[in-house]
Amino acid sequence: MDLTNIHDVKDLLARHGFRFSKSLGQNFLIADWVPRQIAEAAGVDRTCGVLEIGPGVGCLTRELAQRAGKVAAVELDKSLLPVLAETLADCPNAEVVPGDVMKLDLTALVSDRLDGFSPHVCANLPYNITTPVLTRLLESGLFRSVTVMVQKEVARRICAAPGTADYGAFTLLCQYYADCRLLFDVPAGCFLPAPKVTSAVVRLAVRETPPVDVPPDALFRVVRAAFAQRRKTLLNALASAYGKEFSKEELRAVLSGCGLPEAVRGETLGLEQFAELAGKIDNKERLF
Ligand code: SAM
Repeated sequence: MDLTNIHDVKDLLARHGFRFSKSLGQNFLIADWVPRQIAEAAGVDRTCGVLEIGPGVGCLTRELAQRAGKVAAVELDKSLLPVLAETLADCPNAEVVPGDVMKLDLTALVSDRLDGFSPHVCANLPYNITTPVLTRLLESGLFRSVTVMVQKEVARRICAAPGTADYGAFTLLCQYYADCRLLFDVPAGCFLPAPKVTSAVVRLAVRETPPVDVPPDALFRVVRAAFAQRRKTLLNALASAYGKEFSKEELRAVLSGCGLPEAVRGETLGLEQFAELAGKIDNKERLF
């Protein structure tokens, strides 16, 4: 059976009485080059343990199992479990873990199922949970890399440069934790059913040390404040968010201490500039 052949996949799913769920983001890959190229891009070898999110019928799982030491594939849809038992029967190093990746204890999962391996993530993500799941994976600090297929628009946001329309709080979160690369596009025709949008594969190589020296809570408070009101100047956005702690004059002084003009907009600042600003605000806060 070829798990990327549309006829084989339809027969397999019909035999198991499977029905697609839109709310679970079920668009399965039916082009053989895509799972192969995603697994290649993950850059894993036998020393690596891979967390896959949403194996579906297992086409990417099989490609990963050929390269990695171990694959733990978390699937929320119970109706796919008998399908996976069939399609992964000859992959002893692939383990299906029933559950919701947003609720599972990731630390326990890594220590129980990927023990002794260097932990990585690779997945064709369910689009409805892309942002929260990537946030959870990065904040966990558990994984060395995260190679995922997401909507192209999200891929652009992850890899965006300051001052562009795609740049935002999520960009800064991803780039704080990882070196982010947009690798290749995947057209809608590669999926069953075909989604309305183009997809893209990104690789997030998780940093061993943070790129800036400021507490992440302080950094992301400033970042969230700046992008919550994107059209406002940074000064006004900060005044709204920090109005209880600082006068506008104090915030103006902080901006000028960072060498930033009063009319600057947050969307033009890079990670280092946000960090400098957050460091000054955080230090001042501690003085009060
Ligand atoms: N990996 C398969 C492929 O590439 O063909 C399927 C990918 S499909 C885009 C997303 C998969 O994630 C589906 O199998 C879906 O049931 C599963 N899924 C959705 N939400 C999930 C969650 N919260 N936790 C784990 N799996 C989830």
